[in-house]
Amino acid sequence: MNLKDGLIARIATHGPITVADYMAEALLHPVHGYYTTRDPLGAAGDFTTAPEISQMFGELVGLSLAQSWLDQGAPAPFTLAELGPGRGTLMADILRATARVPGFHDAAQITLIEASPALQDEQRGTLDGFDITYVHAADHLPDAPLWLVANEFFDALPVRQFQRDGTGWRERCVGLSDNTLSFGLSPAAPQAMLEHRLEDTEDGQLVEICPSAAPILSAISTRIETHGGIALIIDYGDWRSLGDTLQALQDHNTVDPLADPGQADLTAHVDFEALTQAAAPAAFSRITPQGVFLERLGITARAQALAAKLDGSALDAHIAAHRRLTHPDEMGNLFKVLGLFPTAAAPPPGLER
Ligand code: SAH
Repeated sequence: MNLKDGLIARIATHGPITVADYMAEALLHPVHGYYTTRDPLGAAGDFTTAPEISQMFGELVGLSLAQSWLDQGAPAPFTLAELGPGRGTLMADILRATARVPGFHDAAQITLIEASPALQDEQRGTLDGFDITYVHAADHLPDAPLWLVANEFFDALPVRQFQRDGTGWRERCVGLSDNTLSFGLSPAAPQAMLEHRLEDTEDGQLVEICPSAAPILSAISTRIETHGGIALIIDYGDWRSLGDTLQALQDHNTVDPLADPGQADLTAHVDFEALTQAAAPAAFSRITPQGVFLERLGITARAQALAAKLDGSALDAHIAAHRRLTHPDEMGNLFKVLGLFPTAAAPPPGLER
């Protein structure tokens, strides 16, 4: 039975499921899940991420990680971690860019968190020659100094959606209509976790919460505050969630999220305010547009140095990639960077307190 028929049968028997349950099934079902079964990235896949656009992204992220490691006294050993490494491109670029930072590679214990067996295989190939360890979840990361990056990881975590109704909320669910999947609303009920959103929302407006984000943030933050380190969280979204941002992408086009579960990428915008609320005990930076972050780290100089060695269509593609990563009309503004760092340390290069 395919995933859609399986979900229809389950809902017919047990009733509607939350949007979060639907996302979890569609993305990570052990047999039919979107990430479980494929490499979705790149031109031939469904979507493209910053590290797949240009090597400059990972090089500059690597620079920020290595400089903050030096600034914090170059602790050894330390965990060099990535959440949701995709094809392993970002980590490979980080490692290439930091190869000449004295002691960095020797001290780094590369640790990845990746739910997809298909992508784990790809990562092992990309990172061939490096010792890598997988852990299942952030609370399994070693109790050690932690330098961590997560690019487009939090947007893949399941969200619940709630529509305001008076002083209560109706949860958006996936149920059945005409024997196929369709969105519906549960009866209104008060929601303690949305009490603070009664101030800034009106009847009918929709807000999203990502229940799995806070425990991940707090596991990372505790290690950083206790042992030193930083986290760079890069994703699309804004300060506070408002509106339905659930999006399905297939073959670089937006499609109906319920049409073909397991065949399309599902994401939701990241609520950065919610991440900062879970960021204690470590300190957190201002959320910074990706374009600003990369400019501060010197992407223009790096782009010029690379351009000097290119011509023709390779040069055109390189110029387009630089623009795509940084321009406010492209990824420069939609994508934001949040840094975590010890309360007694400075924020990592590229970010401010
Ligand atoms: N960071 C990469 C890939 C982003 S796609 C890049 O920038 O190119 C999202 C990644 O997170 C994929 O590797 C996906 O398999 C992984 N992922 C999604 N949900 C996950 C979860 N709950 N636990 C671990 N990995 C997850």
